[in-house]
Amino acid sequence: MLACDTREAWTQFLQFIKTRCSLTAFGNWFAPVRVLEATPEEITLEVPNIFVQEYLLSNYKKELCSFLPVDVLGEPNIRFVLAPAQKKSTISTPSIHIQADGNANSNANANKEGANSHPELKLNNSYRFENFIEGPNNQFVKSAAMGVASRPGQSYNPLVIHGGVGLGKTHILHSIGHHIREHHPKKRVQCITTEAFINDLVDSLRNKSVDRMKRFYRSEIDVLLVDDIQFLQNRLNFEEELSYTFEALKNKGAQIVITSDKPPSLLKLSERTIGKMEGGLVAHMGIPELETRVAILQYKAEQKGLHLPHNVAFFIAEHIHNNVRQLEGAVNRLSAHCRLLDLNITEELVSRTLREMLQQAPHEKITVEQILKSVAAVFQVRVNDLKGSTRTKDIALPRQVAMYLAKEMIKESLMMLGASFGKTHSTILHACKNIEKKVATDETLRQQIGMVRRNIEA
Ligand code: ADP
Ligand code: MG
Repeated sequence: MLACDTREAWTQFLQFIKTRCSLTAFGNWFAPVRVLEATPEEITLEVPNIFVQEYLLSNYKKELCSFLPVDVLGEPNIRFVLAPAQKKSTISTPSIHIQADGNANSNANANKEGANSHPELKLNNSYRFENFIEGPNNQFVKSAAMGVASRPGQSYNPLVIHGGVGLGKTHILHSIGHHIREHHPKKRVQCITTEAFINDLVDSLRNKSVDRMKRFYRSEIDVLLVDDIQFLQNRLNFEEELSYTFEALKNKGAQIVITSDKPPSLLKLSERTIGKMEGGLVAHMGIPELETRVAILQYKAEQKGLHLPHNVAFFIAEHIHNNVRQLEGAVNRLSAHCRLLDLNITEELVSRTLREMLQQAPHEKITVEQILKSVAAVFQVRVNDLKGSTRTKDIALPRQVAMYLAKEMIKESLMMLGASFGKTHSTILHACKNIEKKVATDETLRQQIGMVRRNIEA
């Protein structure tokens, strides 16, 4: 590889990544990186802070290896250099620790900008307790959430809500936010996704406003609602920061509510963070039973002004089992059909609509990343392990499932799919054959694959 090729390889790497991550993520993690030097054996990259380096290596090692020079161990041969402007602060605070007084490092600029410069998730107006249908699967979560919302900081702290995709975790989280804003208007509520928190932290590092951010999260809010904490896995420094934030908030009596796609003990987070989560109340949001699904369908239909006969609601609920978002999708689709075509709802119409819905979805813009995420959630493994090359059975099997589903659900050549997995096309083919053979006799695996599929299609 020529020196200029190595530079070109970096450009190609960026182009490749651009198609695989959000614009915000690209802006935060990739755009600020500069190539300082490139030789055929090594590339020197300037990064704005140590988090960017860590993020690149822990999330994109395989891709880096494919594009850039590698060393004898097969690791990407990258020398990271911190950008001069950030060097001082990053070295003096290699990881971001809480100051005992919460603002020991405050600087003159800190007060100039208001707290509202931090990204805050607007609460979804229809995610309210009143719009949440109760059933045996979610009663416990709902009453715990209402308890927290009525007496923030005084009952369970933190409240951790975990459960599968599309079951109403975000709905409940926002409901808590609305309730507190309406009944305790003096309480400052901050609702944020874990990803936004991480991005905020990176922005603060870049703008040298970390102290302000720390002060904001640790002392200027009374209720912190954190959605999808599973995104913190494998992000050590960010985890540490959020963990300190939890501690500081809890110490001052602020309420914390966290959602997660799996129970705390299964999250790949430090014992310390898991311990903090388990120290509060951990509540599981289960899959709604048939009766509850029917009730949800009828409620959603009613809101849309659609009359859904009981037998039809029953029919839909029997076909869509484990995802409320999908139930909603069915109602929306039916309502559109009926309005456009001026039809009455019959089982026949529903059956046709559902069939279209359940068949059509898989072919639309499904990505390997989506499949990996869903497989990881169902098989309780890490996405990074699936992308890696560990051959232990509990990783190798889900990895093959991901390849099998990619072939089934994405219309791309085996070669392209192979490239997305960092494997050859024959590996994909082998995986598919193996899984096809296994599902013929393994009912559990068949169900697991069904679950992954439904998650993706939701
Ligand atoms: P999650 O965060 O668990 O993935 P969401 O909270 O986004 O799921 O819920 C998916 C959709 O289903 C939302 O539109 C939500 O309003 C709706 N939903 C989920 N559970 C219920 C419920 N019990 N009653 C009414 N709507 C619900
Ligand atoms: Mg959610």
